Amino acid sequence: MFKKDKPIKELELITGVENINSEALEELSNGLGDDEDVENLIALARQREEIVGANANNNYIFSPICNKIIPSPNYNPRIDAVKYGVTNNKIDTITIHHMAGNLTVETCGKIFANPSRGGSSNYGIGTDGRIAGYVGEENRAWTSSSKYNDFRAVTIEVANNSLDPNWTVSEAALTSLYNLLVDICQRNGIKKLIWSDNKNDRVNHINGCNVTYHCDFGNTQCPGPYFKSIMPNIVAVVNNLLGGATPQPQPAPTVNPYKKPTATVKSGTKGESVKWIQWQLNTYGYGLAVDGSYGPATTTAVKDFQSKKGLPVTGNCDMNTINTLDNTVQPTPKPTLPSGTPDPYMDFSKAFWDFFRSLGMPEYGVAGLIGNIACESAIRPNNLQNSFENTLKMDDDQYTAAVDNGRYTNFVNDGAGYGLAQWTYSSRKKGLLDFAKQCKMSICNINLQLTYLAQELQTKYKGVWDGLFTAKSVVEASNIVLLQFERPQDQSVTAQQKRATCCQGYYDKFKGSVITTTFPIPGINQTVGVTNKSEVCSYPVKITAQLLNVREDAGLEYEVKTAYRKGTVHSIIEEKNGWGRLEDGKGWINLKYTKKV
Ligand SMILES: [Zn+2]
Repeated sequence: MFKKDKPIKELELITGVENINSEALEELSNGLGDDEDVENLIALARQREEIVGANANNNYIFSPICNKIIPSPNYNPRIDAVKYGVTNNKIDTITIHHMAGNLTVETCGKIFANPSRGGSSNYGIGTDGRIAGYVGEENRAWTSSSKYNDFRAVTIEVANNSLDPNWTVSEAALTSLYNLLVDICQRNGIKKLIWSDNKNDRVNHINGCNVTYHCDFGNTQCPGPYFKSIMPNIVAVVNNLLGGATPQPQPAPTVNPYKKPTATVKSGTKGESVKWIQWQLNTYGYGLAVDGSYGPATTTAVKDFQSKKGLPVTGNCDMNTINTLDNTVQPTPKPTLPSGTPDPYMDFSKAFWDFFRSLGMPEYGVAGLIGNIACESAIRPNNLQNSFENTLKMDDDQYTAAVDNGRYTNFVNDGAGYGLAQWTYSSRKKGLLDFAKQCKMSICNINLQLTYLAQELQTKYKGVWDGLFTAKSVVEASNIVLLQFERPQDQSVTAQQKRATCCQGYYDKFKGSVITTTFPIPGINQTVGVTNKSEVCSYPVKITAQLLNVREDAGLEYEVKTAYRKGTVHSIIEEKNGWGRLEDGKGWINLKYTKKV
């Protein structure tokens, strides 16, 4: 098919990317089956390349959540299946692959754009969580070394953020994978994913099994040990999001027979403490061998667990990780919000109304906006999209706190709707996060979010903003917001009526009312900055002890990260149980040994 002595050089020429490992080359080239007329198919792709190249905007069917489309000529129309001796060509199967390299979706797309590779996939997902479409779903991609599989499957290549031996993938990639799978299933009428550990079940679709591996058909490791270890969980998460029955990937835990560790257990350790950790990790579906040896697989699982729980990702089990793993222990109390931040569960409807009225927006316009926002978020600035509470295993407050204290770093790219407008897209979430940092406010601060919303409308959605000033009725204003700003999946007449009814309710409640709310952040046309000290929870303290330890979290049981000398001054941005979190990000100090200055 292709000569093994040349390919890497050739690939570097095609992609302009150096150092693509041979595994990635193997994975992304030649997804055709052994029993196929490869020469002929590649010749066909060469012809098609001219068409694809000449007409990149052709109407292939791709998921609407793709970040970009990079068309590949390496495919066969599914409707031609019978010409290739294949009878099943209705999409009813999912095949998840690993790229065997940390390629961007663009690099992967460049490889697939070349017909001489003989390889492609329907979709690719990068470590940054971005999704690209390569082969439209109406076509069979050349991915899994089996025409019988690929004529009925949607195939997805996912980038690896670590290579041999574990081939892990990033949290952002996983989140995008969940969302993409849900979308593919919904559009193709796949009610739920059905998994089996048995290759024969997968290949022959026994009991409706509809998830397959590349290694079921070709001589490859794909999708690698990490994906193999979490495949039951991926299936469970997707089914949960699809709203179907949720098969439990692991039997319900009884009691861990091993002794719980009482101190940090590090990677490389052997013994009962490791068995306790492995047993406990398996209750979260990691499928580890409980062998008492803290090797790479356990380390990878610990890192993944820490990342999912918003803990520092070290791969070592400190007491915080151990206690979080221990699902018999009550979860740690919810962190308190920085002082000066309004309770995110308050009824903000009047404040919302007053805010936009104070900007001169007419009552029809404000009603159209507030009713839609109420439908999106119940006007709760800390509202995390419900489906993500399951996938991220954090509730509204835990997510907000983890974003605020910097422990959760995937806010921008996780695709989770958050806040008043259920901001979802990365550019909009990044804007909100940057604004919060600039103002030194919690991400859920109502004033911050109102201001950000108004700024977005005034700058990026000028048509919506102007429309709200000229709307002649509540319904007109409501439709402007629904169809041009919120743009939810359901934009049917029924949905429009539902939103308009909600808007009318607010109109009836607040029309003619006097503005009674005062805002810490005044007029939104002024330059944004730290405008109101009372809103900002940040104050300087002087160290009074000779040497004061800075710890990982608020308590003596946490690891010492560094120490500060007597007389030095540091800023505190959050308080918890008598401890203060340092603005410099180093950790927490006991406030008993400090003095406010
Ligand atoms: Zn593969």
